[in-house]
Amino acid sequence: MFDVVISGAGPAGCKSAEILAKAGFKVALLEKNTNWRKPCGGGVSSRIFKYYPQLRKHDYHKINGVSMYSSDYDNLEYSWGGIRESSINVDRLEFDNVIRNVAIDSGAELFDKHVSYDFIYKDGKKVGIKAKSKSGSIDFLGKILLIADGMSSKLANKSGLRKKWNINDMYQAKCAIMEGELSLDTSKISLFFQKYKGYGWIFPLKDNHFNIGCGTCNEDNSKYNLNEIYNDFFKDPFIKKILSGSNYKTHWSGSYPMPGSGIIDRALYGDNLMIIGDACGFCSPISGEGIHPSVVSGQAAAEVAINALENDEISAQSLKKYKQYPNIKKIIRNFKMKVSMVEFFFENKGKQLNALFKLAKSDDVYREEVINMFLFNKPLSKELLQLLKTT
Ligand SMILES: Cc1cc2nc3c(=O)[nH]c(=O)nc-3n(C[C@H](O)[C@H](O)[C@H](O)COP(=O)(O)OP(=O)(O)OC[C@H]3O[C@@H](n4cnc5c(N)ncnc54)[C@H](O)[C@@H]3O)c2cc1C
Repeated sequence: MFDVVISGAGPAGCKSAEILAKAGFKVALLEKNTNWRKPCGGGVSSRIFKYYPQLRKHDYHKINGVSMYSSDYDNLEYSWGGIRESSINVDRLEFDNVIRNVAIDSGAELFDKHVSYDFIYKDGKKVGIKAKSKSGSIDFLGKILLIADGMSSKLANKSGLRKKWNINDMYQAKCAIMEGELSLDTSKISLFFQKYKGYGWIFPLKDNHFNIGCGTCNEDNSKYNLNEIYNDFFKDPFIKKILSGSNYKTHWSGSYPMPGSGIIDRALYGDNLMIIGDACGFCSPISGEGIHPSVVSGQAAAEVAINALENDEISAQSLKKYKQYPNIKKIIRNFKMKVSMVEFFFENKGKQLNALFKLAKSDDVYREEVINMFLFNKPLSKELLQLLKTT
């Protein structure tokens, strides 16, 4: 019998496992496959170091700025070199195994190649998780269950807390890790907003490698074919100029969905159960940044679980504190603001965003506002929003 059983050893599950194990609880961390590279841009803001100071000693590619392009190629640049700590671009296969090791070193028990597929019920209550392994189905009994297995989560669907994902509530993206010359500043990440709802990116990695990808969101998921827009992204004359070297090698490619409509806050907790990370929507609308928010959700859920276990009170009423946790409330609010902005930006096939970039280029105050909105989650002023409406 475990105190806590966690399905999924990604950023959300690993952070919960680490905190719970450090506090002395018996933790089972179930993972489908530690050799799987989660399709991801691998851009991680420096806020991650607060949660994983261990990452500082790794030799990740450092990033000190961003270049953003509207669909008519107006450019906004911002550098934070010397002002704030560098962010990092990582290969998810390497990164996820680093944070899994942090959880293991803290005392969590990792069960690799264990695919969770259902709950174990006793007297109508969920008392554990069933997982398939090479040796057959195994029951993991736990006092508290954490669902951290991302967008493909079967358990979240079966939890009774939320419905299956609707295609209009997500991003779909395809990306690759490639090797070759880039004609751009490799100390910056580059984002290329498109006429469809979505964007493309180039995130430089170490040793002449880079992560490149693009995706759509919301109703444009059904209007556009992901493989076609991915191929078109490479054919764009502007991208061709950036990739003007020779002998590019593709080391890996993959596609995957991510949440695009904010946190499903009604589904965060139930009796002895919490849903964390992507499985409950912890991925930022507009930017698609999900590693940091998922880690924050993992930490919040773990702290609430510790309190619940110590007080022997694991009911939904007690786990409600997860939703009320200050950082979670902040993320819910922030994502709601961004969801409303997605519609606004992508009105008229990207024209709104083009107008915003033009205004930002014409005026330093607007430029700062736009940068603050994209990078530091600050809403645009009423004045700028009004100006956009009339432009
Ligand atoms: C194409 C793409 C690009 C992205 N780029 C970025 C980016 O640059 N920066 C950023 O911050 N975020 C990015 N994101 C979002 C980010 O990847 C996610 O928000 C983040 O990984 C969520 O973490 P998680 O732990 O909730 O889920 P995941 O990272 O999905 O981890 C879930 C874990 O559960 C395991 N699992 C799944 N099913 C089972 C099962 N049945 N049993 C056991 N284990 C299971 C998986 O193998 C995985 O290890 C991107 C997402 C996509 C799809």
